[in-house]
Amino acid sequence: PARTRFAPSPTGNLHLGSIRTALFNYLLARRTGGQFLLRIEDTDQKRTIPGAEERLFRDLRWAGLHWDEGPEVGGPCGPYRQSDRLGLYESHVRTLLSNRKAYRCFCSAERIDKLNRLRHDKGLPLGYDRKCIDMPTHEADDRAAKGESHVIRFHVPKDYPKYNDLVYGTSGHGAGKSKQYLADEPVYDDPVLIKSDKFPTYHFANVVDDKLMDVTHVIRGSEWMSSTPLHVALYHAFDWSPPQYGHVPLLVDVNRQKLSKRNFDSDISSFRDKQGIFPETLTNFAALLGWSHQRKNDVMDLPELEKIFDLKITKGNTMVAFEKLTFLQEAHARRRVEAGGEPFEQMVRDVALELVNKYGAAVVTRFIGKRKLRDIVADFLHIRSLPYRNSHQFVEGLLIFLFNDGIKRRQPLDVAVPDVAVYPKLRVAASTFFNIPEAHWNRETLRDHLSQLHVSDDVATTAEAKAQAKAGTKALYAFLRWALLGVESSPDA
Ligand code: GLU
Repeated sequence: PARTRFAPSPTGNLHLGSIRTALFNYLLARRTGGQFLLRIEDTDQKRTIPGAEERLFRDLRWAGLHWDEGPEVGGPCGPYRQSDRLGLYESHVRTLLSNRKAYRCFCSAERIDKLNRLRHDKGLPLGYDRKCIDMPTHEADDRAAKGESHVIRFHVPKDYPKYNDLVYGTSGHGAGKSKQYLADEPVYDDPVLIKSDKFPTYHFANVVDDKLMDVTHVIRGSEWMSSTPLHVALYHAFDWSPPQYGHVPLLVDVNRQKLSKRNFDSDISSFRDKQGIFPETLTNFAALLGWSHQRKNDVMDLPELEKIFDLKITKGNTMVAFEKLTFLQEAHARRRVEAGGEPFEQMVRDVALELVNKYGAAVVTRFIGKRKLRDIVADFLHIRSLPYRNSHQFVEGLLIFLFNDGIKRRQPLDVAVPDVAVYPKLRVAASTFFNIPEAHWNRETLRDHLSQLHVSDDVATTAEAKAQAKAGTKALYAFLRWALLGVESSPDA
């Protein structure tokens, strides 16, 4: 069983990339009968955004990604918020200080900045020159005890260890030298573990927590891949064995540009609130970003994904094709209708709300009852295979006939103009309609009359003639709908 975690920083909203990371971790835990943890990485207090944490919880729950351990649900390895775990980082860094895998550094920020600016101008690697590494322990501890501002740095090994990435293979990348030269003066990585404000850095807290929380598999975005050798080195410094790491590829748009706020709004709220995407559509869509499966059909809800997910993830950037999202949404809408129950009722409620907002409650109830609306939605999707993308599109695109809006906004007919054979039938249709006495103006009579107008495909003998007859019937009905209602699609009767 895998123990996985999703470890977001509360610095913004969940977006497509982060929901995918959370999802893969969730699915791996579920598939293997393990646990999925949520940990809040808020050690960079300057970047923490008030309210971001609550939004994160809400968004994850909306998507169905319920965590087994974490904030609000608790668990044996808590607390699950890094700002509540400062004591643990402090005690762990003391271990590293005492076995000289870490050291206190009293260099001022100005000194480091100056060194780095110099290096930067010459195009040389940034880092630290280890000025403080040989300070006697008692002196360093003394100065620290007196409250002198300092950081604690990791004494990195000569070479970073290799590791086996579950997605990218041996060593991922980035396992390299920890020491480089500026002219003949060495520059070391020696990253900061504890900052001068006593907060741990991301690297240190992340490693300590993954260990203390017994995480077995770390699945995260490929932007962290270059940090992994350092993380593994930290495990070794503690004499711990590292978890398994798998990095999932970057998401790019059709132009191979990294998905970002600038080119695409991929926040969860944009999918959920603006586009009306169902949670099962979004998790289905996210799961297919880089992961491949053996099934014939791509349409899967969360429980189905939980059964078959594995780490067959492609390396290299993953292109996000949004037509797929539309396709999946329509498929899941049909599934909701077929399955009935609460998810379907929710859809009907959304459509009702959209109608009420548009036409007012009085008008809507006069024309259409709740039950009737349910039938219309079911009929449209199930029998007539019309697309449902969201309640707005459904009302604007398909239901406007109910309120005469179709006629007001009648667009030119989109279907092929009925061929000559259809016109006489239309004339017949019009006259028969006029001749139906008021008392018989009902669904059955109308259907009866209309069915006599069908271009009968019984008499057609060849497949081609049959197809033609069928197309003729379709065109006839489309034309009638358009003529009567101003739209080409509407329920049967
Ligand atoms: N806090 C990091 C983030 O915001 C977590 C990276 C990791 O999973 O190790 O993405």
